Amino acid sequence: MADDSIAVVDLERCQPDRCNYECKNYCPPNRTGKECITLRGDDADEGEPDQVHISEEICLGETCGICVEKCPFDAIEIINLPQELEDDPVHRYGENAFSLYGLPVPLEGQVTGILGPNGIGKTTAVKALAGELAPNLGRHADPPGWDAVLDAYRGTELQDYLADVRDGEVSVARKPQYVDKIPDQFDGSTEQLLENVDERGVLDDLLERLDIEHVREQDIDSLSGGELQRVALVACLARDVDFYFIDEITPYLDISQRVKAARLIQEMAEEHGKSMLVVEHDLAILDLVADNLHVAYGEPGAYGVITSPKSVRNGINEYLKGYLDNENMRIRPNAIEFEEHAPRQVSRADTLVEYPDISKSYGEGEFSLDVEGGTIRENEVLGIVGPNGIGKSTFAQLLAGRLEPDEGEADFDLDIAYKPQYIEIDQPMRTDSFLRSITDRVGSSYWNTEIAQPLQLDRIMEQQLTDLSGGERQRVAIAACLSETADLYLLDEPSAYLDVEQRVRATNAIRRFAEQQDATVMVIDHDIYMIDLLADRLMVFDGEPAVHGRASEPKGMRDGMNDFLANLDITFRRDENVGRPRINKPGSQLDKEQKKQGEYYYS
Ligand code: ADP
Ligand code: ADP
Ligand code: SF4
Repeated sequence: MADDSIAVVDLERCQPDRCNYECKNYCPPNRTGKECITLRGDDADEGEPDQVHISEEICLGETCGICVEKCPFDAIEIINLPQELEDDPVHRYGENAFSLYGLPVPLEGQVTGILGPNGIGKTTAVKALAGELAPNLGRHADPPGWDAVLDAYRGTELQDYLADVRDGEVSVARKPQYVDKIPDQFDGSTEQLLENVDERGVLDDLLERLDIEHVREQDIDSLSGGELQRVALVACLARDVDFYFIDEITPYLDISQRVKAARLIQEMAEEHGKSMLVVEHDLAILDLVADNLHVAYGEPGAYGVITSPKSVRNGINEYLKGYLDNENMRIRPNAIEFEEHAPRQVSRADTLVEYPDISKSYGEGEFSLDVEGGTIRENEVLGIVGPNGIGKSTFAQLLAGRLEPDEGEADFDLDIAYKPQYIEIDQPMRTDSFLRSITDRVGSSYWNTEIAQPLQLDRIMEQQLTDLSGGERQRVAIAACLSETADLYLLDEPSAYLDVEQRVRATNAIRRFAEQQDATVMVIDHDIYMIDLLADRLMVFDGEPAVHGRASEPKGMRDGMNDFLANLDITFRRDENVGRPRINKPGSQLDKEQKKQGEYYYS
């Protein structure tokens, strides 16, 4: 066959006892007597039906793809690799398994970013760089060993680094992607979790700078996601190693916490000469933290390519454009675009609810919130921004009539569909049964095109909720919320654990949902790009977290962004090529000018 094509069989999906080998029966080469799709034989356990193996020599390639269509469990992918991909893979997990092309290059004193979808091989690459996995250069049947790997990388920037890895001389610390799992793996207090990590003697300083001294004595399982995220970061950065790998900084952190975390990571490189590798999907933060960038592309679960390093600006711009210049590769049909000058004009729409000034306090000396009276319109997407712990959820509960205000008449009881920030869908149940328990539209053409497709649910409908990854749970939870019948849909941090592509798809799904269903959607998020792409208007919360909050009336995007960013003291400029917002360096010429003019965002 076309020798630039690979066949990938997902062995967790391949269930021959339930399909009668449809792929094998219909495969054209098989029908002419060739052994293209065969049974794995020896691999199968006693009594288990044989899963399939596909010969990449005989297979006719993507243009045939009959087995892909026939397989009822979406277990097979036949992919023509891009012709530009001339080299052998760095690693392939096995026959008909995932292959990785290219490796990121950790550099001392630099923060190296990786930008790309989930499932594209980033963790695999890090395992190779950490010496936990000896790359097999695609020769999985007969792994050639480290010396061959070094030969393959002779004369490249990675040569010295890989030699150290081979000799066991590289030490590594990691911050895992899914911090929500930490309480399942660790029993005890924050103090106990951190007691053995303080190799640099900086624990107190790190805890203070990330504002989490108060959780020292608390049990890990009582911490919020935002607190866990910061504890996990501290646990990684307090170590004294050569190479730090941080798999996402931002989930559950508000913007000022994101910026502080980014600053700490930069200092590790700048002041301590460490090699920092960061995967991040919040592009404003990635732009801020990284010194250089590898883009990762390919087909999640099938193959991934990590490009040579690019400048951060070019890397992000090319990624957004959907076209990688050096690689001559289109990675997406359309560009992701931002509105540069004219914030979306809001059309006059009917009013969903009008509310007066409201105050609410949880009791003497406890958190209190003052809400400025305002109007929420039908079929608008209202962005909600502000720090964690400032009363955003309290406001939602007031709207739902679940909390009584202390002052202000609030006699509405809106039916609210709510996706919380921390998703708890742990029932032993399949995704499809869970969604069917919410709506009988599951499987209808409306639901398939408007909800399931953009949120890429088809491949996870038959999986158990408990087996889903963080990003998969997020998509199921968004779908569950939008599937309810309600007056108002409130999504708290839908971006968490979604990669950039998934954020854009979710954004489009939410916007279309509001327009087509005449629904009002309120979205709390800390990813400024996502808020920019999503919201018609903004509601800004400020004050002192956990003490007192103030909520503004809903405003136009320009006024809202200006208020919000003035509170944070952050200005954005526009990239001259693609118009994407970029955080200005504090104190820079532009930063000063924009602050003087009061234009923090749409300058
Ligand atoms: P990322 O970090 O970009 O999300 P990973 O490196 O974790 O991606 O995984 C890339 C792909 O490799 C996934 O499809 C995963 O299923 C596959 N994979 C990971 N580990 C193994 C393994 N030990 N055997 C076979 N496939 C694996
Ligand atoms: P946000 O949604 O902006 O993160 P919340 O509205 O959840 O903020 O919480 C604001 C503050 O009120 C926090 O300090 C929180 O601990 C406190 N709080 C929330 N619910 C209660 C409650 N039922 N009793 C006392 N304090 C509460
Ligand atoms: Fe057979 Fe390849 Fe066609 Fe699949 S794509 S049916 S393996 S020839």
